[in-house]
Amino acid sequence: MALERTLSIIKPDATRRNLTGKIAAKFEDAGLRIVASKRIQMTPAQAGVFYEVHKERPFYGELCEFMASGPVVVQVLEGEGAIAKNREVMGATNPKDAAPGTVRADFAESVGENSVHGSDAPETAAVEIAFFFSGLELVG
Ligand code: UDP
Ligand code: MG
Repeated sequence: MALERTLSIIKPDATRRNLTGKIAAKFEDAGLRIVASKRIQMTPAQAGVFYEVHKERPFYGELCEFMASGPVVVQVLEGEGAIAKNREVMGATNPKDAAPGTVRADFAESVGENSVHGSDAPETAAVEIAFFFSGLELVG
């Protein structure tokens, strides 16, 4: 397996409930290293650019409003097979389907307000990391 980097976002429903540390601990416990981290608040327009791939989906408007509704913590996670490993730690999109012990099983409020984002492939990880971080901010 290759050493990979993936983009994670701790979403506004989770920062609002003060869950940043508990979620970060799940990443670290799974062997993922947090090599960049910052707390920001996006505008709906910025969230719209980030989630452009979903612009035809019925939930797009609501998703962009939600992602701009409070602070988020954007992080780059590094490790062997980091992209798939993070998706495992996150659990299924809908918390009702998420395996026990995953972030979404433990913390998500609904299919929309589901506590975390994670990149789904090497190509999207590269684009999503570059959306939030410069090379200088990634310190492995
Ligand atoms: N989402 C939603 N309703 C749905 C499916 C997705 O509100 O029926 C939101 C949810 O916040 C999800 C995000 O849109 O995390 C992106 O959807 P995707 O299918 O990429 O799920 P993910 O990769 O986050 O598991
Ligand atoms: Mg996705």
